[in-house]
Formats: sequence, C-alpha cells, structure tokens
Amino acid sequence: MSDTLSFDSNNSGKNGKHGSKYQNAEPDDKNKNWLEGIFRKYYFYHYSQLELGELINEHEFGFRLFDGKIRRHLAFNDKKELYAYIIKFSPSDIFYSSSRYQSPTAEIDQKGWIGSDLIFDIDGKDLHLECAQSHNLVLCKDCSFISKGIISKCVGCNSTRLQIIDIPCARCIKSLNVEVKKLVEILDDDFGIDSECIFVYFSGNNGYHVHVVDKNFYNASAKKRNAFAQYLMGKGYLIESLGIRRNNEGVLIPMSNKILYNQGWRRRIFDSIHLPIQNHKIDDKFVKKYNRMQDANNNNIQDIINTHILDLSAKIDPNVTMDIHRIFRLSGSINSKSGLIKAFCKDLDSFNPFVDACFIGDSNVEIESKLNIKISLKGKQFSIKPGKNTLPEYVAAYMICKGIGDIQNQT
Ligand SMILES: [Zn+2]
Ligand SMILES: [Zn+2]
Repeated sequence: MSDTLSFDSNNSGKNGKHGSKYQNAEPDDKNKNWLEGIFRKYYFYHYSQLELGELINEHEFGFRLFDGKIRRHLAFNDKKELYAYIIKFSPSDIFYSSSRYQSPTAEIDQKGWIGSDLIFDIDGKDLHLECAQSHNLVLCKDCSFISKGIISKCVGCNSTRLQIIDIPCARCIKSLNVEVKKLVEILDDDFGIDSECIFVYFSGNNGYHVHVVDKNFYNASAKKRNAFAQYLMGKGYLIESLGIRRNNEGVLIPMSNKILYNQGWRRRIFDSIHLPIQNHKIDDKFVKKYNRMQDANNNNIQDIINTHILDLSAKIDPNVTMDIHRIFRLSGSINSKSGLIKAFCKDLDSFNPFVDACFIGDSNVEIESKLNIKISLKGKQFSIKPGKNTLPEYVAAYMICKGIGDIQNQT
C-alpha cells in the first residue's frame, strides 16, 4: 500500500515497495534537495493543516525521510514537539496510527492496544479504469525511459522491469468518488453508521481513506474488521438469502412464498437486477418475472448476480481495514508521490483534489521535463514540453514527485 505502512515495514524499502525515489540518491541530488526544501517550507507555514487529535501522545508516528529511511514507533507529547521534529527532518511522508496505545513507542506486541477507528482504503489502482491506460506513464527501471500508455516491454531497451507512474485525471477521481459513496451508503444502510461519523479523506495521490469514528466499533478486533471488509465487498454472499435455491437438476429456482425483508444486500441486488420484491414476499409476480429473466439469460442467474454484487460492492482493500497496527498518512501532510496533501473532503462532490489539496507555492522555477505532458493544478492547465520549462513550484513539485522532471540550478 502506498498510503499506509503495515507493521512489517519497519525499515526502509529493501523490498522496493515502500522505498523512496531518493534512497539511492547522492547527498547533492538536486531534485531531492529542492523537494526537501519545498516540503519544509510547506510544514513551516502550514503546520496547522496537520490534523491531530487531543490524545496525540497515545498514537504511534512514523516517517519516511528523503534518504529512504523509515522511522517508526515514535511518539510525541504534544503538537509542538511533533512540529519541531517535522521542521528538523522535513520527511517525505508522515504516518500516524489510527490506533491509540498505552505505550506507542514499544514493539508491536508490547504497545497495549486501546482501540482504533474503522478505516477503509480505496485505491485508484484497484479500479482498473480505462482512462488510466491512456494517461498513466510507464517508467523503465533499467534505462529510466518513460513511455505513455500500456506497454509490456520498454521501447528503449526491451526490459520488462517496468513501473507504472499514475497521473490520475478528473475522471479517475469521479470513479473513486462513486466507490466512496457506495461504501458510505452500505455503512449507513446496513450498520446504521451516521454520516456524521464518517470522514472522507483524499489520500494525496490516487485514492481515498474513509474513517469511521464510532465508539461502537472502536474496540473491534482485527478479525471483526476483516469480517466487516468482506461484508462490504459482498464476499461469500449466499444466493439463498435472495430466496433462490438450486434444485436437483441444478437449476436455480425461487423459493415461493418465502418472506424476505427487502433490505441490505438483498435490496441492493434486487434493485440492481430489476427484480423487485413486493410486500417482502416471493410472490407469483416475482416468480413470473424471475422465470422470464432466467429464460432470457439462459439460466445464468448466478453469474449475473455475481456481476451485480461486484458492481455494488465497495472496492476497498481488506488488508488495510483489518490491520489494527497500520500507520496511515497523516491528514494535512504531503504525499511524496504527488506533492499534494492528504486532505479532508467536507463535500465529496465539490472537492477537487487538484485544487483543494495543492498547497505548494507559486514562485516560478526552471524544470527540465522528460516528456510532453498536460498537467492541471490549482485550476490552471499547463502544457509542458520536453526540455526546459518555467513553471510554478507546485507544478515542478508534482513533476519531480512523479519522476518526470528535473529541477534546474536555482539562482
Ligand atoms: Zn528501458
Ligand atoms: Zn483517469
């Protein structure tokens, strides 16, 4: 996961998964040094953006530094101590536990877990969007050549060691919003979780984190949280709970006259396949409609229902929800994959991450672009050509975070 660290990621990305771009950089690497300065400036002026609860001393903090090192199991007595640390080290990424602990600096099994909000992670990568294929870039890990579109081999050196650079577009964000709304709706309809207890955050790059702050679920075990996630994803849903069973010939038939309340997954599925259940009963009308649907679809009802469940389910990462020792990107901190911040979305429909999560300064800098690209930030469109460009710092920071530009000598 890009926006969280699980408990086994104590040390910097030897596995490359959590590694920083700069872990092998020379101390005088221009991009690294410039970005480190830009991040420090942001934290100096915008530290109040960091969203910290009252009990800051009961949370574990983790940092990824620009040299790639990860520091975990840290705690701070108060906000000022934390701010001082951040200004001193200017981390590339800041994480903090949703969990509260008696001893946040102790080893995982010694921390004394108190409880944690329920957290759901929705990642653009998991949506496999069509538009992503047209705008994402592919970096060759061997020759550093950057290609557009989907390729299986580097066009420069034929290497297959490729890494996707996601450049999310407005359509990607819209699709993510749809997933968030599905999740919020199921939480509300099936668990009675009030929308006032649900906090939605843009992850800072290409995803959302949804936090449920509800004391009824605060002490839920990892196992319970996993069951929650599986439920939200519609995993293991039994067709029998739709009042349909397989007969001896293997044909799916309705269970006539069964009383079934039209709610939860049942309501969602019936609505979606246009097979409404009247008066909570599998009546003759239902059976007739069902049979017609079965004939029209060559008895492929199970597959059809599975497809609808997939469409209706929330595309969350269950590993994030169940891992109570995970540390999450701190709201208000910069995501080094984009230069945008993790930001609270008061109103998802009007929230525009490319404007509302962009806090880097406007001064012009010279940057050498590795390719032709259009970038939209702070409500402005930038058509960037390969080679030298003069651009605002926030565009330059985005390009360096994405690995598609090099900062030039500053005068
Ligand atoms: Zn290559
Ligand atoms: Zn897109």
